[in-house]
Amino acid sequence: MQSDTLEHTIDEVRGKIHPRSVSGVFARWRVVFVFLTQLVFYGMPWLQWNGRQAVLFDLGARKFYLFGLVLWPQDVVYLAVLLVISALSLFLFTAVAGRLFCGYACPQTVYTEIFMWIERRVEGDRLARIRLDAAPWSLRKLRLKLAKHALWIVVAWWTGYTFIGYFAPIRDLGAALLALQLGPWQWFWMLFYGFATWGNAGFMREAVCKYMCPYARFQSVMVDPDTFVVTYDKGRGEPRGGRSRKADHRAAGLGDCVDCSLCVQVCPTGIDIRDGLQYLCIGCGACVDACDQVMGKMQYPAGLIRYTSQRAVQEGWSARQARARLLRPRVLIYAAIILALSAAFVASLALRSPLRVDVIRDRGVLAREVPGGMVENVYRLQLINTSDAPMRLHLAAGGLPGLAVHAERQTGPDILLEPYANRLVPVVIRAPAGAAAPGPHPIQVQARAQTPDGRLVERSEPSSFYMPD
Ligand code: SF4
Ligand code: SF4
Repeated sequence: MQSDTLEHTIDEVRGKIHPRSVSGVFARWRVVFVFLTQLVFYGMPWLQWNGRQAVLFDLGARKFYLFGLVLWPQDVVYLAVLLVISALSLFLFTAVAGRLFCGYACPQTVYTEIFMWIERRVEGDRLARIRLDAAPWSLRKLRLKLAKHALWIVVAWWTGYTFIGYFAPIRDLGAALLALQLGPWQWFWMLFYGFATWGNAGFMREAVCKYMCPYARFQSVMVDPDTFVVTYDKGRGEPRGGRSRKADHRAAGLGDCVDCSLCVQVCPTGIDIRDGLQYLCIGCGACVDACDQVMGKMQYPAGLIRYTSQRAVQEGWSARQARARLLRPRVLIYAAIILALSAAFVASLALRSPLRVDVIRDRGVLAREVPGGMVENVYRLQLINTSDAPMRLHLAAGGLPGLAVHAERQTGPDILLEPYANRLVPVVIRAPAGAAAPGPHPIQVQARAQTPDGRLVERSEPSSFYMPD
């Protein structure tokens, strides 16, 4: 009941849109994208890889598992490059075909589609929903509203649960949830994300695209007259007006638009595409499907509303001529940059050393003389094995005659590093007293290992050795 009051309050503010359902080519593509995107989102956390979750942002351990790849905080540059590639891809798609992402893959669109599908199943199509909303409260109305919200809440909750499953192993979360033993942050994020899904897809819907989405505002700088957008062919459609199917509308001075308003009724953002390109259009193609059906019934050619460029409509170009302009310099430059960045990204990942070494000189411990006529300095080595196989490391040092490395709590300079391990290992480096003049001397600390596939991995890090007076 409370949610229904909320629904009415929001509807009063924004004017509720009851989009009519539509079938056609683009409606089918939207369904395909709903399935694909949700298959990836809901399915990914359940995939396993070498006995662990395949995709996991382990914030506690500060590791990001992505199938065979493990990214560490030191790899933040890879995430930055990924973000740049994603942003450029968005620019590319927008330059080619406007807001394709909004219409087919944006989570707001996808969840709104799912929630509207549930709404249609429970409350009926557009007219039935309008009548139900206008009707006084009755047992039937209460039953339908409760059923709809119960189904919405199940989807929203599962979405919230899946979301936290990207940050903590989802199989363990299930057991913890059943035992009501989730941590406070896990409860918070699951409920918050579920609530946001329920609110955005159930109530806010197109208002998010209209008033909150920044992409809608700056898309105008990313499209140009050759971009494919959903366009009403004014030259062909106007003057609009009703007519009988058999009438010769041209002789009557009418264009092809029969002014049936179906294109407006199916529009999820409630706009009339016949008013021209608007920033509220998310490019979903629902009006294209609706109008093509009307054109079919009237036995007019399809495509009064179609994906084409503004220039093509103005110049009266054919679809082929319009498509030829897709490969224009701007698009080719975006594509070339994305290709170059992606190639560099993949090559860099493939050549990435599975061993990382950082040498930290322990400034709290001064150089000291030890029995045997040796001088020792103390260091801490941060050793990271980014691979999924153990590594036996051999440590050595160079730069002064007679340098020897001893890892603490080890019998010699060899260290076993477990898969995906990040260890801080105290080591001492010794040199014969008198091997060098008093004062600091540059040295190199070397770590060498052989991976199970036979690859020799070697890292050399600079540091300094202090020789006392
Ligand atoms: S659906 Fe087509 S024919 Fe009907 S009003 Fe819209 S543009 Fe005109
Ligand atoms: S105008 Fe057409 S393409 Fe744009 S949002 Fe409305 S239905 Fe979708």
